[in-house]
Amino acid sequence: MNEALPPRPQAPLRLAISECLTGAEVRYDGSGARSSFPHEALDGLFDFLPVCPEMGIGLTVPRPPIRLVGTTDDVRAVGVVDRGLDVTQALRDFGEATAQQLRSRGVSGYVFMKNSPSCGLYRVKVYGRSDAVAEDRSLPVRKGQGVYARAVVDTWPELPVEECGRLMDAVIRENFVTRVFAYAHWQALQAAGVTASRLVAFHSRYKYLLMAHSIEAYRNTGRLLADLSGDLPGIAARYVRELMRGLSRVATRGGHANVLSHLQGYLRRHLDPASRQELASLVEAYRRGEQPLLSVLTLLGHHLRRFPDTYVQSQVYLEPHPPMLALRRPL
Ligand code: SF4
Repeated sequence: MNEALPPRPQAPLRLAISECLTGAEVRYDGSGARSSFPHEALDGLFDFLPVCPEMGIGLTVPRPPIRLVGTTDDVRAVGVVDRGLDVTQALRDFGEATAQQLRSRGVSGYVFMKNSPSCGLYRVKVYGRSDAVAEDRSLPVRKGQGVYARAVVDTWPELPVEECGRLMDAVIRENFVTRVFAYAHWQALQAAGVTASRLVAFHSRYKYLLMAHSIEAYRNTGRLLADLSGDLPGIAARYVRELMRGLSRVATRGGHANVLSHLQGYLRRHLDPASRQELASLVEAYRRGEQPLLSVLTLLGHHLRRFPDTYVQSQVYLEPHPPMLALRRPL
């Protein structure tokens, strides 16, 4: 049996997206929302699979708007005008079923529309309960999550997800793309079959990437894989959950500097004193915020081309996604 780790999948990867973000005129008022998503910045990386849950549950365009009503523990999606319209359960059911379908169709991430009572991931407005709309003067709290988005995330917790507005931020965008490519690689491993040796080989390649994002997740995953003699599918499920949780934290300057210190250690015995000092000084200058990450990575890459090291060069940290556009390490 060939136990080799499958190669990392190449772009374009398959991404689910709230359909209105593609420009499709599926919103309640017949409009689209293409300008809310940074299409140009992600050009070539993804193939998009559009989903509109409100259309999916049989609502039409145009349609009466809905909103979230209730408390944080008990939120329902109901009509703004007609409170008798309650689509909570329909959206939940559609979310659970769609998550399963997207998984089987090889989707590796999901971009949701912001502020939507169906698709919003963060800080969606939740209104207080009132049966008489005209008397409902309470201010909404921005603490909700769209009913459909929540069902997708609950059904498929390790799926990389992000909201369109946040993707306008270069750091968050790079983090999301990194997660999608890591998860797609995990899916390739799953398709090949999870074995102990593939699991170890996978972790060995993602170690430093994870260390940059979350030292806690780095330690937890290392502990999880320390003993693979037990329930392997269970360990793999816990591993990927922890990996994706860790990667969802944006890597800090301190996290990167920590990894760079480790990586330069592998080159120490090859470099002459002056080159060693130059690299060490650059890492420290980066740590202090005086140099961009790219300058350290460029020098590191230069030395690795002169003194190849299979283990270091296999690290996903050095190239977490295709080197295209202005994505690369904005920190
Ligand atoms: S936010 Fe979601 S439910 Fe609303 S139009 Fe866009 S895809 Fe459809």
